[in-house]
Amino acid sequence: MNKPLDDFVCVVTGGSRGIGKAIAIHLAKQGADVAITYASSKGPAEDVVTEIESLGCKSMAIQSDASKLEEAESMVSTVVDAWGKIDVLVNNAGITRDQLILRMSEQDWDQVLTTNLKSVFNGSKAVAKTMMRQRSGSVINVGSIIGLMGNAGQSNYAASKAGMIGFTKSFAKEFASRGIRANVIAPGYITTDMTESLDQKTLDAIKASIPMGEPGSADDVANLVSFLASNQSSYITGEVIRVDGGMAM
Ligand code: NAP
Repeated sequence: MNKPLDDFVCVVTGGSRGIGKAIAIHLAKQGADVAITYASSKGPAEDVVTEIESLGCKSMAIQSDASKLEEAESMVSTVVDAWGKIDVLVNNAGITRDQLILRMSEQDWDQVLTTNLKSVFNGSKAVAKTMMRQRSGSVINVGSIIGLMGNAGQSNYAASKAGMIGFTKSFAKEFASRGIRANVIAPGYITTDMTESLDQKTLDAIKASIPMGEPGSADDVANLVSFLASNQSSYITGEVIRVDGGMAM
């Protein structure tokens, strides 16, 4: 039986763990060949490749620092040389370095902005020429509701995710006539390694602020990525879609 993403080539940055891993496996379940990138988790990234291959799809793991333009360009070349095209880029790689503004170091600010925001410029710019040649493509940027709401202790993270929205809308306007779409997914509280370090009191407070009463799962985000990757969303661009159990409404 045909699957919605048969013959698609997808790239997921930060696909070794958490939301990126769930996205990569979900895309493969829809029929796509999937390349993932990682910063340092080689073993876990190779396990994701094995899991995708067991689904009958091609996969590769590439060590590529998303915050560096030349590494993003070389990663795109590796995928295009191997598989001939890229239909979907998911800019998912991200970090947190939480601290109140008065205590936040310049390094914490710079690291989060380059990893979460400059990376989106890097990946999108690197893939744009390939997608222009194809006259099609979908860029999906993983933002956060914190970019919509702000959060005490997360000014760097909020700024990076808010900046991503402005970048995505600009990219969507520049490339719409070339058949390339770009959208932001804004997850709320999703259980992954990134959220594991939170104490019980903070967790309870977060749960109380979610109208649906529970954290989301990485699969909740992956479902939306598959939709935005597919032709079912072919008239949607420059949009920000929350996956947050109503947290930011
Ligand atoms: P995670 O479990 O900490 O995984 C982060 C992923 O990003 C890993 O694969 C990591 O690779 C990769 N990464 C980090 N820095 C990188 C770099 N410089 N270059 C390439 N890859 C890099 O995080 P997550 O919770 O799945 O979050 C994924 C995305 O969702 C992030 O953009 C995050 O801001 C967003 N988000 C998460 C939540 C949540 O509640 N979890 C909510 C809203 C938005 P290594 O394994 O090699 O370190």
